[in-house]
Amino acid sequence: MEECIFCSIAAKKTPSFFIYEDNYVFACLDIQPANIGHVIVFPKRHISSILEAKNEETSSIIGTVRKVCLAMNACGITDFSIINQIGKSAGQRSPHTIIHIIPRHENDNIQISWTGKQFDKETFQKIQSMLTNAINKKEEKSEEKEKRIEKVISEKIPDYWT
Ligand SMILES: [Zn+2]
Repeated sequence: MEECIFCSIAAKKTPSFFIYEDNYVFACLDIQPANIGHVIVFPKRHISSILEAKNEETSSIIGTVRKVCLAMNACGITDFSIINQIGKSAGQRSPHTIIHIIPRHENDNIQISWTGKQFDKETFQKIQSMLTNAINKKEEKSEEKEKRIEKVISEKIPDYWT
């Protein structure tokens, strides 16, 4: 089996333009940068998404992302995009999760944009409730669940919200 390139970089078997590391995380220049100075930050452990990250890895990842942004800022960069794709639909291509930090400037020809979709207040409230319940790990009352299933909602809303 071919070894993951990011595991190999983190283990220093593959050379990189090293920027920073700690026990959990590694940061280096992306060798196919969207803009010059594009840095990638990734956990040393092979995990496919941040959903699998342990608490200490999560702290280290976000702390390192901030550290790199501060370093870029000290080099005069004021604008950044921070990107992490989870899953094929989101454009994830690597089996090892990566956070991209891309220095941005006017007219740099990088497209990260969308047009805001329209939904009614009831839909927002429903999604809000589902997410806050999931965060609080509350058991959904069966009564509410039945009501939710009966409710017909817009076709624009993907299945996972229904
Ligand atoms: Zn890996």
